Amino acid sequence: MSSDCPFCRIVRGDIPARVVYEDDDVLSFLDANPLARGHTLVVPKTHHERVAAMPDDDRDAVFGALGRLGPSVQAAVDADGLNVGMNDGSAAGQEVPHVHGHLVPRFEGDGGGAVHSIVRTRPDLPDEEMDELEADIRHAAE
Ligand code: 5GP
Ligand code: ZN
Repeated sequence: MSSDCPFCRIVRGDIPARVVYEDDDVLSFLDANPLARGHTLVVPKTHHERVAAMPDDDRDAVFGALGRLGPSVQAAVDADGLNVGMNDGSAAGQEVPHVHGHLVPRFEGDGGGAVHSIVRTRPDLPDEEMDELEADIRHAAE
């Protein structure tokens, strides 16, 4: 637990939140500044700053809860779709340094974009570099 982390404070009950789901490992609550009706967050109860810092059980609990809760959030607001995502690291837009998954309900014609819209300039990668990337990532994942 981190004393000045807002999500640890919510987990401890020190500050209020609109909690929609809780189990031993995760807490899920409405985003205070929603991108859409029903915008919901899922956090591990234990403080981890980045996805890679989570032990397997917390990681599985967070991703499992995102998968299970998504359809409930979508149904509750009668949405047409859902963006499921994480900003992992400040370069990726993470502002609260406690792992959290976003469930953002989407509606036909809402004017929003796809995950692809998070990047403004795409790299133009030649085949050789794509081959190298495939090998490098495959190697790193071994
Ligand atoms: P990120 O770190 O991925 O950029 O997003 C953090 C999210 O947490 C934002 O969407 C923001 O509205 C939400 N948020 C930040 N502080 C609080 C809080 O104290 N309570 C709740 N419910 N949401 C918060
Ligand atoms: Zn925390």
